[in-house]
Amino acid sequence: MKVFSGIVEKIKANKGKTVVIAIVAFVLVCAVVTLCCLGSYVFNRFATGYVPTDEQVAAAKGQYKRVLIIGVDGIGDYVSRMEDGAMPNYAKLFGGFTTANGTRVNASVTHTGVAVYPTISAQNWTSMFHGVRPPYHGITGKNSNKELENGKQADEKYPSFIKNYLTYYPEAKVLSSCTWKAVNNGVIEDLPQVKKINNDCNTLYAVANGTLGLGDGDLVDYIRQQTAVEGYADETYMLTDAITVQRVIDETATEDYAIAYMHLNQVDSAGHSYGNNKHAYIRAVSHVDVLIGKLYAAYEARGWLDDTLFILCTDHGHRYAQDGTGHGGNSDVEVNVTFAIAGHTVKQGTPGKYVNTDLAPIVSYALGVKAADTWQGKVPYNMFAALD
Ligand SMILES: [Zn+2]
Repeated sequence: MKVFSGIVEKIKANKGKTVVIAIVAFVLVCAVVTLCCLGSYVFNRFATGYVPTDEQVAAAKGQYKRVLIIGVDGIGDYVSRMEDGAMPNYAKLFGGFTTANGTRVNASVTHTGVAVYPTISAQNWTSMFHGVRPPYHGITGKNSNKELENGKQADEKYPSFIKNYLTYYPEAKVLSSCTWKAVNNGVIEDLPQVKKINNDCNTLYAVANGTLGLGDGDLVDYIRQQTAVEGYADETYMLTDAITVQRVIDETATEDYAIAYMHLNQVDSAGHSYGNNKHAYIRAVSHVDVLIGKLYAAYEARGWLDDTLFILCTDHGHRYAQDGTGHGGNSDVEVNVTFAIAGHTVKQGTPGKYVNTDLAPIVSYALGVKAADTWQGKVPYNMFAALD
């Protein structure tokens, strides 16, 4: 007690000084806390993981005949918010499975991947394909989506993983079937080996009128019915996404593309119209699951489950309706993204930190080619058994 009364006496004697010290201490604590928060916020956006050695890349060569990439615009981490059993096809493909030939296909899935900032489509898809953050690839600013649609391209110091792959395998063929034309027009370079297909309202009517043949008779019948009645935006994207997927199925039936990419847009469209917690958004996510089922069935029928690498990726999420629909900001639902990968060299479980710049190095490593020296993305920890 004597000690405390001594301290109290001292404080009384130096009242002014004590107040100043208390204020300075408080400010210092606040500054340290702020810097820690800012630090973790900033560094969470930076890729961590492996840059595989030449030997590791060489060992990965030839392990897959092809990669199928399902790009779902604006789905964020919503896969993890759907009710149990609501996405049976997604669960089948990205839960890990054993093929009819006995091959074990493992899956690595995270729902806490991180989009690059700002959470705009153009910035993110360009970062995903070109392996660097927006200030480097140069697709920045508020009009970036339109600029990509009009053909603006990333700084060529940062090749897409498609261009990078084709420098090692110039004879290979690549397919990109998109509901959002910006990816074909701006994100992916124009290269003779890359077949680009854009699907929009005109495609819809071409299918309905029979001027564009499509493999799935039921889908054509459905599109004919739907185009006869006046639809609305999300319905249109739902149909166009179905065409985008059907064209991947049809195209890959006659040509074994090393990389087949598709870009689906109905989830993003529903998010813009209604926010991520509304029925239309959930319905769009469910429909994406139906499309995943069609892809799975087609690849299974061809005996391709053993030697295909499957990826589902997205650019950003969407705000809740009550927060004002859309995206571009910093909230968790806009920033957090699902990244799912399934293949026989994948390690079953949850990967380490995934950032959207990691897509390019992940695909490159899996296909046994070196990442471009200029890329910032890495191969996340705990994603491939051979790297850990
Ligand atoms: Zn988007």
